[in-house]
Amino acid sequence: MAPDGGLYVPVSYPQIDAAQLTDWRRLLQQEGYAALAAEIIGLFIDDIPSAELQGICQRAYDDSFDDPAIVPVSRIADGLWLAQLSNGPSAAFKDMAMQLLGELFSYELQRRDQRLVILGATSGDTGSAAEYALLGKDRVQVFMLSPQGRMSAFQQAQMYSIDDPQIHNIAVDGTFDDCQDIVKQLNADADFKRRYHIGAVNSINWARILAQIVYYFAAWLQVSDGEPVSFAVPSGNFGNIAAGHVAKQMGLPIDRLILATNENNVLDEFFRTGVYRVRSAAETLATSSPSMDISKASNFERFVFDLLDRDAAQVANLFGRILVEAGQFDLSGLPAFAEQQQRFGFVSGSSSHADRLAAIRSVYDEAGIVIDPHTADAMTVARASGVPGLVVVLETAKPVKFHDTIVEAINLAPERPARFVGIEQLPRRVHEVANDAQLVRRYIEANV
Ligand SMILES: *Cc1c(COP(=O)(O)O)cnc(C)c1O
Repeated sequence: MAPDGGLYVPVSYPQIDAAQLTDWRRLLQQEGYAALAAEIIGLFIDDIPSAELQGICQRAYDDSFDDPAIVPVSRIADGLWLAQLSNGPSAAFKDMAMQLLGELFSYELQRRDQRLVILGATSGDTGSAAEYALLGKDRVQVFMLSPQGRMSAFQQAQMYSIDDPQIHNIAVDGTFDDCQDIVKQLNADADFKRRYHIGAVNSINWARILAQIVYYFAAWLQVSDGEPVSFAVPSGNFGNIAAGHVAKQMGLPIDRLILATNENNVLDEFFRTGVYRVRSAAETLATSSPSMDISKASNFERFVFDLLDRDAAQVANLFGRILVEAGQFDLSGLPAFAEQQQRFGFVSGSSSHADRLAAIRSVYDEAGIVIDPHTADAMTVARASGVPGLVVVLETAKPVKFHDTIVEAINLAPERPARFVGIEQLPRRVHEVANDAQLVRRYIEANV
C-alpha cells in the first residue's frame, strides 16, 4: 500500500509479441516453469541480475511442488481444460505467489542486511501458504493469527503442525475479522512497527500478482497454437484474476476473463451492473468455497485504474471518499464501463452450493478428476457463460482440503497426498490468546 492509501501498479505493462511467445513455448518445454517465470518476472524487475532471478525462481518452483510441470494442464472435455495451481506445499494456489515472495524476501533482506517480522491474519489458505513459504528463511519470522476453532480440521493441522522456531501460530478467541482488527491495531502503532520490523504478505502485495501472471502464460502455451484462450477464474480479492488482466494487457492472446464468485457476489454484481457495493461482515455468507467469502475485493482498484484510463485522481476519489461515505459506487453510466467487455474481456457469474456439487459430480463423471469447491465455482460459471473457443479453468485448491463437500458431491473421500497423511495426529504448535491486541503484542515482543 502506498502512503496515500492507494495500491502500487507498474508505470506500464511490458509488451510481448507472437515471436516472444514462440520462444517462451520452447523455453517452457525445454527448461520448465521456473525458467519461464524468470523471463516474465524479469520484464518487471530491473535491479536483480538475470542469473540471480533465475536462481530465485528455481528455488521458488522446485520439488516442493507435487508435479514437475508445476502447473500441469488436463483436458476435461472438448475445448475445456483445467490448469492445476494447487501442487505447492500447502495444496492451494496461494503457494504460486507465496513461494516466490519467500525467495524475494530472502534475497532482498540479505542484500539490505535486514530482518523482517511478518504479522498476518488468516482464515485458512493464506496462513499455511505463507508459513510453508517462509519456513527456514533465517531473516524472517512469522506471527500468524487465526480464529480459534474456526478453520477446517485439515487447515488447522496444516498450520499448527509446522515445527520451526521462527514460525508462530497464534489462535485468537474470536473471528477472522477480530484477527484482522488486531493486525490493523498493531500496524497502526508506527513505533512498534519500526522497532520490530513488522511487514505483511497480504493479497495487495504486488509481488503476489506478479508471480501469478506467469501461470496464465504457462497454461496458454500448453493449450494454444496461437488462438486466443479464455480463462475461468475463482475470484475473491480479485488477486488471481488481476494477474490474468495484466497478462492480457501485456499482449497474451486472452479472449475472455470469466470471473467466478460464490454467493458472495460483490464482483459479479459489478461486472453485470456497474455497481460496486461493499458488503458488511454480517452480509458476508459462510459458503462451501470459503476462501472466496469476501465482503470487498482488495485488488479491484488495480483494474478500475486501467478501466478509467489510469486516472489516479478519479480512482482515489472512488475508493477513498465515495466508498467510505456511501459504501458503493456506480460506473454504469460511463462509456468506459459500456466498452469494458470489448476492451478488457471480463464476463462474470456466480454459483450456489448446489451448482458446485453438480460441477464436482459432472467433472468427476466426465473426466475422472475430482475438483475442489472453488474450482467448481469457476467450472459452473465457465459453462454457464457460453463463451466459445478454448477455455481454461484455473484449479485453486486440492480437494483434500474440503473433505465434507467432496463426500457430499460424489460420496467418495478425496485422495490425500502422501505428505499430508496423519497430519492431524502430529503435535500442535499454537499459542492461544484472548481477543486482545495488547496480549498479542506482548507475545510478539517476548518471542521476536
Ligand atoms: C484465495 C483463493 C481464491 C481466490 O483468490 P483471489 O486472489 O482472492 O481472487 C480462490 N480459491 C482458493 C482455493 C483460494 O485460496
